[in-house]
Amino acid sequence: MKRAHNFSAGPATLPTSVLETAQNEILNYKGSGVSIMEMSHRGPHYTEIDQQARERLTRLLGLGDDFEIFFLQGGATTQFMQVPFNFLREDETADYVNTGAWSQKAIKEAKRFGNVHVSYSSEDSHFDHVPSQDQMKFDPSSRYVHFTSNNTIFGTQFKKEPETNGIPLVCDASSDFLSRPIDVQKYGLIYAGAQKNLGPSGVTVVIVRKDFLQTNKGDELPSILNYKSHVGKILNTPPTYPIYLMNLVLGWIEEKGGLKYFEQFNDDKASKLYGTIDKDDFYKSTVQESSRSLMNVTFRLPSEDLEKKFLEEAKEHDLVALKGHRSVGGIRASIYNNCPMASVNALTDFMEQFRNQNG
Ligand SMILES: *Cc1c(COP(=O)(O)O)cnc(C)c1O
Repeated sequence: MKRAHNFSAGPATLPTSVLETAQNEILNYKGSGVSIMEMSHRGPHYTEIDQQARERLTRLLGLGDDFEIFFLQGGATTQFMQVPFNFLREDETADYVNTGAWSQKAIKEAKRFGNVHVSYSSEDSHFDHVPSQDQMKFDPSSRYVHFTSNNTIFGTQFKKEPETNGIPLVCDASSDFLSRPIDVQKYGLIYAGAQKNLGPSGVTVVIVRKDFLQTNKGDELPSILNYKSHVGKILNTPPTYPIYLMNLVLGWIEEKGGLKYFEQFNDDKASKLYGTIDKDDFYKSTVQESSRSLMNVTFRLPSEDLEKKFLEEAKEHDLVALKGHRSVGGIRASIYNNCPMASVNALTDFMEQFRNQNG
């Protein structure tokens, strides 16, 4: 069966082999006679899936015993609220690095709970870059420093974690989680909605360092929103089918060679695409070169008419979901882990052809 070259920013493309496994198992999961979505989340089949997903994440990220893993609902957007609800008291301050629309939303929610110190903002240059280390100024008394590792809408990405002098890092890693190795020891908390790099929508992975978790507000919080309520148990019915699919994707990531493999693979894909953009002035990257994302490649054409034509003709070549976010315009190709090289090659071939005919 033919599949399109899918550059969707999210929910994003999934490995065909994973979807085929899901297809094969959908009516009768491992001889149980029922689908995984029709059985108890406390029974042996689902318990095994939950365990396996945790083990795979632990291995992939090299997590020690000092971290907890939660599979929660409500998307990254809920984490914008849940993080400060847990950790930020009224008279306290948290640092936020403002690098785009998602950071802004996180800041807005944090302000409901305490003080926000904006360590840096790239808003004045339409979020076309992320700051260098020395551009960020942290309040030394901050509870945590929040940053968005990859800015899905604007196409920028931190090359490495900010150095915070011991202030716990909190990261919205929704759009580059497991796309490369990270130094987990630097983090107090990492969250990622699954639908970019990890699986379908419906589950959010939250990883918290135990000593940071100990500092949350505890029992004064509503149970479902208190991270501590989720330690060591499944508190309520989780999104079992999304977690099942995520577990298949995690298995696929391990099979391919883990985060080191994907770091190289993602770099190869992005280099190919940026190389095509940089060849002359027809295509123009919308971001500063040192901040370019390996996940979301954003660019413009000489006119909006040409952009429209580009999108129409791309579709005829089975290249879909290339329209830029409405706040940026232009073109955005999202090339997460699950996007194959063949799709990037098809896109760059098309871009060359389109430039020859319209440049
Ligand atoms: C997509 C995205 C979000 C929003 O995720 P939801 O699951 O829709 O809440 C937040 N942050 C980043 C970086 C994203 O890419």
